[in-house]
Amino acid sequence: MVAVSSPCSNPPLPACTPVPSSNASKKPLLTYAADKAEPHWQDWKWQFRNRVTTLAGIEQYLHLTDDERAAFAAAGTNIPFAITPHYLDVIQSTPECSALRKTVVPRMAELTSTASEMVDPCGEDADMVAPGLVHRYPDRVLFLVNETCSVYCRYCTRSRVVGSGQHSVDFDAAYEYLEKTPQVRDVLISGGDPLVMADHKLEGIISRLHSIPHIDLVRIGSKIPVVLPQRITDDFVAMLKKYPPFYMSIHFLHPDEITPEVEAACNKLADAGIPTFSQTVLLKGVNDDPEVMKALMLKLLKIRVRPYYIYQCDPVQGTSHFRTQVQTGLDIMQHLRGHMTGYGVPTYVIDAPGGGGKVPIHPETVVSHADGTWTIKNFEGNEYQYIDG
Ligand code: SF4
Repeated sequence: MVAVSSPCSNPPLPACTPVPSSNASKKPLLTYAADKAEPHWQDWKWQFRNRVTTLAGIEQYLHLTDDERAAFAAAGTNIPFAITPHYLDVIQSTPECSALRKTVVPRMAELTSTASEMVDPCGEDADMVAPGLVHRYPDRVLFLVNETCSVYCRYCTRSRVVGSGQHSVDFDAAYEYLEKTPQVRDVLISGGDPLVMADHKLEGIISRLHSIPHIDLVRIGSKIPVVLPQRITDDFVAMLKKYPPFYMSIHFLHPDEITPEVEAACNKLADAGIPTFSQTVLLKGVNDDPEVMKALMLKLLKIRVRPYYIYQCDPVQGTSHFRTQVQTGLDIMQHLRGHMTGYGVPTYVIDAPGGGGKVPIHPETVVSHADGTWTIKNFEGNEYQYIDG
């Protein structure tokens, strides 16, 4: 066996831009230091009940900028506001780094929409075959089982739904559709965040899907292992183990999110035989730096989460301040490819606006093709020829 040493050590991350605070010298902030020493810190229901959901609440933990405070006060904020104690503690532990804070604390820019932005950029509502059930691809469906999340991401593709009180799900109609649609063999449960539901409610959904003979695969998409890792309890994992094969997509953004608690949660899932995959939205000022993305992917590999997708930020209303140029994503992919094992290199995708589905976007590797000779370019930009036959 040949030992392979990785050329990729973990490089220091580039310094991030501090959030300018207009009142940094004012009142001292609360921290979670005392709570972290108590058993309730490990109780996911305590974490959920004690989410910070108001302007007055968040001002106890962060010195807000004038812009952030104005965003709370402005009428018409698109998305509700909530941060779990765990995630707020992570944000507080990196006070100079504004990356994670930007993703959950509203700014005035989210009240501005551009001409190309849409309420439902992925066209999910148009493909809804029963309330809550989206059928776009031939063999798989998206099942939006709820609208509640533990934190509300300011760039959320489903900002039209999350926390709105408007989302309806007809479980009976969805199961009936699935039973009479044998080409569907794969169900992705999403929301909102399905993991805010109690174990017995989630098990009711998973077991019902599992009972449909032509459904081979049930998956769940969640951000909770990152923002509320205490939710990944032994009981929850034991429940999931009853319904193999079961896969989980986890919404990671930044290497700072991978705390010991998150590592323990992901390892618990891996130990139970539940494959996990990362989904990362490319966000300006958060993770649009090749070294940040590289550090994230390397850390994901260490906690046994397979890097899966980097998404171009969807053109949902009020998110232009988060969106990068596509070239930024291509440059990041070029930086990742060849500089770490292929296990760590995700696929960069654009969810085609208007309901076209996910389209992979690759840095150009085929330079030319003629008479069976392919000229290809490697990660260093060097050209090679491959001849068919
Ligand atoms: S957790 Fe997912 S569904 Fe909920 S706000 Fe964030 S991106 Fe949207």
